[in-house]
Amino acid sequence: MAADWSEVADRCWVRRYEPYDVSCGVVTGADGLLVVDTRCSLDEGRELLGDIRTLSPLPVRVVVNTHAHFDHVLGNGAFREAYPDVLLVGHETVPDGVREEAGLKGMEPVPPDTLLASVWTGDLGDRYVEAVHPGRGHSAGDVVIRVPDADVVYAGDIVESSGPPSYGTDCWPLEWPQQLEFLATLLSDGSAVVPGHGAVVDKDFVLGQRVDLADVAGQLQTLYAEGVPVDEAAARGTWPYPAEWLGRAGIPRGYEQLGG
Ligand SMILES: [Zn+2]
Repeated sequence: MAADWSEVADRCWVRRYEPYDVSCGVVTGADGLLVVDTRCSLDEGRELLGDIRTLSPLPVRVVVNTHAHFDHVLGNGAFREAYPDVLLVGHETVPDGVREEAGLKGMEPVPPDTLLASVWTGDLGDRYVEAVHPGRGHSAGDVVIRVPDADVVYAGDIVESSGPPSYGTDCWPLEWPQQLEFLATLLSDGSAVVPGHGAVVDKDFVLGQRVDLADVAGQLQTLYAEGVPVDEAAARGTWPYPAEWLGRAGIPRGYEQLGG
């Protein structure tokens, strides 16, 4: 077994990869493997698959994309070429996002072909797994992967422990706190939560991040209601995260969703 894989709970693995310190997951069952996210390119996906081979010789049955951002999906093709029958699972909004991200890099897109609106369940032989859409937040197509018998959730980028949550140009800052409220209902005090970037965390961490995300959402609503212009909002708030960080996309996105 490679030293760089970490078994966060029974046969649930995580490994962190550069660039972007993206976490990829592997869940092992009697019939095969489920993989969470595929890194930034076909070559990186192939390297990931090689590393997965050090864990188990069983076939990869399922790949789940936690959302459409390039660092989580552009290695999908490596799994399709090695396993033509693999299920590529993602939220119903993710294929368009993958086509866009692949187009930007001049790649042939390999989008998810097994789509979910709310939930998908898969059977790995001796255990089952769930992929659940917790609503919009980090992106419109976020999905968390739950392994009930191991009390593990792979959360993608809706939870981030290596830095402030990533408010990008496709985020939903007003709804993001509700995602984590929902996620917390899937967790016990002993759950392992694997973020898309950063070290494994627990329910307390998720609840703490929810408070900060709700703080941002609340301030956005207040500043908007007070008529503070969008380009002054970063300086006017008392944010739990660096104002410059939020000013790039989070604040404009919040204003846009509030209607102006
Ligand atoms: Zn992301």
